[in-house]
Amino acid sequence: MTCQRLKTLKLKAARRQDWCCYYCRMPMWDDDLDQFVIRYRLTRRLAQTLKCTAEHLTAQCEGGKDRADNIVAACLICNRRRHQTMKPKSPSDYQRHVQGRVRKGKWHPQGRIKAVFNAGGEWQENRP
Ligand SMILES: [Zn+2]
Repeated sequence: MTCQRLKTLKLKAARRQDWCCYYCRMPMWDDDLDQFVIRYRLTRRLAQTLKCTAEHLTAQCEGGKDRADNIVAACLICNRRRHQTMKPKSPSDYQRHVQGRVRKGKWHPQGRIKAVFNAGGEWQENRP
């Protein structure tokens, strides 16, 4: 297994998900941070947290494989936090947990991210 293969799987998953995080539904970026920052008018620091990562639905340490049906695209925050707990939640439980927190504005760093996240739970692009 090479990193390149995992990256390909990640990009495929990201396209399938319309470049929205599997858990929090926030838009993500992969290698063009500058464009993302401009598009959503975020600070670079906030935008860093929305970097697209490959997330194993079944963790590698539990036998999860680097295969298309086990890889989804998730932002850095969701990916990190899922694996920070001793006993990670199942993907669907975690998705519910994250989306509940997002609705309360208690998931991503506050401030700019909240400002571009409207009440309906959908992102709006900032148009000039
Ligand atoms: Zn996320």
